[in-house]
Amino acid sequence: MAERYLAAASLLLFWLILCLHTWIAHRRRTRQALAASTAAGAQAQADASTTVIAYASQTGVAEDIATRTAQSLDAAGIPTLILPLSLIDAPLLAQDRHILFIVSTTGEGDAPDSASSFTSQLMANAGGHHGQLGASSPFGALHYAVLALGDQEYTHFCQFGKTLDAWLHSQGAHSLFDRIEVNNGDTTALQRWQRQVAQALRAPDLPAWQSPTYGAWQLTACRLLNPGNEHAPCFHLVLQPCNGALPDWQAGDIAEISIPQPTSDNATPALREYSIASLPSEGAIHLLVRQMRSPDGNLGLASGWLTTQLRPGDTLSLRIRTNRNFHAPEPDRGLILIGNGTGLAGLRAHLKARADTGNYKNWLVFGERTRKHDYYFQHDIETWQQRGALQRLDLAFSRDQTDKVYVQHHLRQAATNLRAWVEQGAAIYVCGSLKGMAQDVHHVLTETLGPAQLQQLIDTGRYRRDVY
Ligand SMILES: Cc1cc2nc3c(=O)[nH]c(=O)nc-3n(C[C@H](O)[C@H](O)[C@H](O)COP(=O)(O)OP(=O)(O)OC[C@H]3O[C@@H](n4cnc5c(N)ncnc54)[C@H](O)[C@@H]3O)c2cc1C
Repeated sequence: MAERYLAAASLLLFWLILCLHTWIAHRRRTRQALAASTAAGAQAQADASTTVIAYASQTGVAEDIATRTAQSLDAAGIPTLILPLSLIDAPLLAQDRHILFIVSTTGEGDAPDSASSFTSQLMANAGGHHGQLGASSPFGALHYAVLALGDQEYTHFCQFGKTLDAWLHSQGAHSLFDRIEVNNGDTTALQRWQRQVAQALRAPDLPAWQSPTYGAWQLTACRLLNPGNEHAPCFHLVLQPCNGALPDWQAGDIAEISIPQPTSDNATPALREYSIASLPSEGAIHLLVRQMRSPDGNLGLASGWLTTQLRPGDTLSLRIRTNRNFHAPEPDRGLILIGNGTGLAGLRAHLKARADTGNYKNWLVFGERTRKHDYYFQHDIETWQQRGALQRLDLAFSRDQTDKVYVQHHLRQAATNLRAWVEQGAAIYVCGSLKGMAQDVHHVLTETLGPAQLQQLIDTGRYRRDVY
């Protein structure tokens, strides 16, 4: 009998120790997460020997490269800390340390949305040589490098990287090597970055980056959604992994597709990104692809290949890229989803996720040309509306009446409701074209909510954009 009690007591003791251990580990993880989510905490985590890798990402590319840079440095024994640019503050920049900046440019040479507090509070206030930071070289102890990501198709190629570099220089910081500019993920420029980082941080044995792994996916369906709109054909593509093992992803994530170059067998494939319209629970990746043509009438490289050459049953190389910047807000918040054209893809994934989990406070504002031809995912949208999962729907079909009506016009008309939703805590997510939609929507939001409130929404992650 006594033995039984002893055995029971030992078991109880073992269980209590296990609980205590789990609780301590949980407390430690929570403290670390909390610490790294504030600028002061970030500094506390980064002692002087830690190389900080600061990224400003719009669609996840800069964050992805920051992670790969950190992985290779960690493997070479150089401690790193990855931080979003929004957590970099003046005291951190004033320290004697190395910071590698990996920053994208968006729109008309702008910083990514997530970096707007850095640009509006730090860069604007610090000014030039004699800024408000109180010294002519406030960051004189800092050694930095800039990897600027951009797209040469845009006039202000890599502009934010250039501006950041010039500003750091004007504040007395020392560049470790000349800024490297990357056009559309160009691998040669990225290899140069790896070599220069290795040299500057005296890590000759820096392991080469692991190339991202692309899986083989089969096109199982490709359907023209808008016959009759010959100006802007839009296709619904469905893709399934060839090995049958569906990876995990979240609403907001991106499918990066490797596109074969038609010119030469040896040419590096081009990479193009598409917002994922579906969830893993649907068993496939669904995309909306607009067939693009250049002014001379030639089909776009990727959209042409995907919609005219690839046939159901054919395979392609694809990887899913996490796009944290466009992940869902907290479930109990209302969500205002605004988009046009193929932007509905990114919005649909969010609506589906929220409808499935019973988060019904959703408002969709969608714009296209005509209801007859271009009302994509009409069945889903109307089903969610009937079930109460979509509490408000505004459709802006620009060519269904004499006067052109766009999503921004609907938003302006709904200003009172918009303010009320935001007042009650709603987040605003915008997906689709930057020019002609996102910029005009931004303008109306500034007008309706005021610049200060809009800035606060950006800083707190309640205004997010996946625009291209
Ligand atoms: C984060 C992200 C998500 C995206 N999601 C989608 C999506 O869900 N559906 C979708 O159809 N596309 C999406 N795109 C755009 C897509 O990646 C390609 O840029 C598009 O398919 C054109 O590529 P292409 O190779 O066919 O054209 P290219 O051969 O690269 O270019 C053909 C011509 O079209 C112009 N062009 C290229 N892209 C655009 C554009 N977006 N707007 C206006 N003109 C352009 C070029 O300047 C050129 O003149 C997304 C882009 C990003 C960055």
